[in-house]
Amino acid sequence: MASLKVYNSLTRKKEVFTSITPGHAGMYVCGPTVSGESHLGHARPFITFDIVYRYLMHLGYKVRYVRNITDAGHFEEEGREAEDKISKKALLEKLEPMELVQKYTNLFHWAMRQFNNLEPSIEPTATGHIVEQIVMIEKIIADGYAYVSNGSVYFDVDKYHHDFSAKGMPYGILSGRVLDEQLETTRELESQEEKRNKSDFALWKNAAPEHIMQWKSPWGMGFPGWHIECSAMSTKYLGEEFDIHGGGMDLQFPHHECEIAQSAVCNHHIPAKYWLHNNMITINGKKMGKSYNNVIKLSELFSGNSPVLEQAYTPMTIRFFILQTHYRSTLDFSNEALQAAERGLKRLWEAFSILQKMELANASPNSGTDADLNAKALKLLEEVDEFMSDDFNTAKVLANFFELVPVINSIRDGHLSITALDSTTLVRMQQTFQIYLIDIFGLKEENAEDTGKLSSVLQLLIDIRKEARSRKDFMTSDKIRNQLQDMGIQLKDEKDGAMSWNMI
Ligand code: ZN
Repeated sequence: MASLKVYNSLTRKKEVFTSITPGHAGMYVCGPTVSGESHLGHARPFITFDIVYRYLMHLGYKVRYVRNITDAGHFEEEGREAEDKISKKALLEKLEPMELVQKYTNLFHWAMRQFNNLEPSIEPTATGHIVEQIVMIEKIIADGYAYVSNGSVYFDVDKYHHDFSAKGMPYGILSGRVLDEQLETTRELESQEEKRNKSDFALWKNAAPEHIMQWKSPWGMGFPGWHIECSAMSTKYLGEEFDIHGGGMDLQFPHHECEIAQSAVCNHHIPAKYWLHNNMITINGKKMGKSYNNVIKLSELFSGNSPVLEQAYTPMTIRFFILQTHYRSTLDFSNEALQAAERGLKRLWEAFSILQKMELANASPNSGTDADLNAKALKLLEEVDEFMSDDFNTAKVLANFFELVPVINSIRDGHLSITALDSTTLVRMQQTFQIYLIDIFGLKEENAEDTGKLSSVLQLLIDIRKEARSRKDFMTSDKIRNQLQDMGIQLKDEKDGAMSWNMI
């Protein structure tokens, strides 16, 4: 087995992966902010790191995979005032903040199950670790790298950079940004006057009395900054130094840069040995964002209820689509590309099922085989481990499988005798397909036809309910809504008077 090489964003090169404790691997991945429903952009990091998790286990590592839930303290970045995303959304939706957190956490877990992502070993929440965050902030203040201002606490980036550059841990070590450049790109926030320098970031924010989510701290009532939660929770569950820190490329700066600075002060070294970042998803060549009006929620993808979508796509189609591109390349989403992935996956499942049904008793152990074909097939199968161990190149693994599909189909169609391949090659092919598709890639067979039918049936029920309402037959309309709700299907009224549904 080839040794595993990973691209480390910290050193900007591919390195051989050696875990700190032999046989064990610790991985921390930044989880979702549960102030809204997960969208397509969230699918990629969580599927990517699910594959990393599965592959490490396949290689024999005992893995502790920690993925947090940000249920407090993620500041609104778009707005001018620093405010807590959860509190803001709770006010908007007229929900208790914890009710909102529960709602979106449930929806996130549901989407992860649809994608067949394994559950992390530990899924800590920011609100469950306020004490740990306060302890860490106190230590940063005591060491002189944070200061209190008007009930808030800020990290002193300038002082850190000055002192820690000499220790080989300058601010910007991960993202490669120099401090002057960072200053220019830092947004003007209203609380700017509380800071000594523009690049300083909040560890703790003073909360106004009307702010719903607030906790008692040595600096008064308030709530934690976003970056500190990951430092506190990764240290608690994985130790001061662990193997892998993962996340989307958009988190490199400032989030991961801040995590490094906080941990460097408290624990005297960079928290993770290898920093892995997946690239972004674009939609029809454009960045996904509210301003482009092209954000697709995961439930919309699965139901097809979005103006951007021509049809519904099953979770496995999306998973497969993501695996067809290396995780460090950008991935452009389009209906065309998704439909091609749907067809590709179907071909692969067909070949897999033919392989499984093959009567290997008929295969020849030594005579009548096609030596060239055998050699070619074996080479394609041997290469997949090399590709996967070369920074998780799922795209190349799949390309090799697709080279084998015509051979498998020819055997089925009788154009090629099963004896053309010797039995060890066929067994190897069966095993490799099984291990990769099911165990490592986490694909599972799903019946696309059934999903399509379910969509049509639900549309029919939505239409019947609409007619009932127009007749003021509220008994029927309520019955449809309530019974669907009991089955775990929620109907939602859209702004334009239309109705959509999602699984809960
Ligand atoms: Zn994080």
